[in-house]
Amino acid sequence: MALQETPPNGRSPPRPSGRKTSAAFPNCPQCERRMTIKQVAPVLFASNLDDVTYGCEKCGTEAKRTVTRA
Ligand SMILES: [Zn+2]
Repeated sequence: MALQETPPNGRSPPRPSGRKTSAAFPNCPQCERRMTIKQVAPVLFASNLDDVTYGCEKCGTEAKRTVTRA
């Protein structure tokens, strides 16, 4: 007896093809590698914003983006 839930619309849920993900990780301006998140800090004067620091693992370049918190 499985308690598994079956989604009403079959078993292939709609999936946006990675556009959000690639937008969230900027490429390194130096070597065009995808950067990784190094630090996330809330913005002091805006409760729904985060300052995200990205870093390139190859050359160490850092980039800061302010993103809206969901
Ligand atoms: Zn780099």
